[in-house]
Amino acid sequence: MEIIAATNNANKLREMREIFDGIKILSLSEAGIECDPEENGSTFEENALIKARAIFEIARKPVLSDDSGLIVNALGGAPGIQSARYAGTHGDNEANNAKLLRELDGKVDRSAEFVSVVAFMSDKCCFTAIGCVKGEILTHKVGEAGFGYDPLFYSHDLKKSFGVATAQEKNSVSHRGRALRNLRKILQENSML
Ligand code: IMP
Repeated sequence: MEIIAATNNANKLREMREIFDGIKILSLSEAGIECDPEENGSTFEENALIKARAIFEIARKPVLSDDSGLIVNALGGAPGIQSARYAGTHGDNEANNAKLLRELDGKVDRSAEFVSVVAFMSDKCCFTAIGCVKGEILTHKVGEAGFGYDPLFYSHDLKKSFGVATAQEKNSVSHRGRALRNLRKILQENSML
């Protein structure tokens, strides 16, 4: 089976391929689709479904989407679903990280979690699954691996920053790894894979 990844984020696509190994995951450009749906939902799940539906309606083939973000307890859950555009410009990781450090300056509680909701949509079914990983926001970047907030995220599971974790280490505990493994199990149980 071929699945189209409903994402324009090359890092998410890479992680989806690493975690859903053995299944052919096409990028939007490989599927010949140009689409950047407006993520105007109010939850990760709504946004994951908006992305999956937008691509499914064009392709009419199985689609996999992810909506994810960072929840910081001392910031009342921010940046949350706004994670990609926390500092204003969508996908400006440098500015997002700088804003996160500014907002947390002087705060004692630096606990946080990454959340991912993934959705699978086909002509037969639609399933979602969630994954979370808990940690702390560091006071400065550690490492350069991964993407987004990874260098600022100290994983309790790995006992190190995602910025110094290998792809395999990150996938083994990450929100996206957990969500995708949960989804894969659901799809297998329903004979969709
Ligand atoms: P989305 O495309 O609206 O789901 O935005 C997700 C945003 O959350 C990304 O642009 C990153 O800022 C952040 N994010 C989600 N997953 C990760 C991750 O695995 N590492 C670092 N940042 C992430």
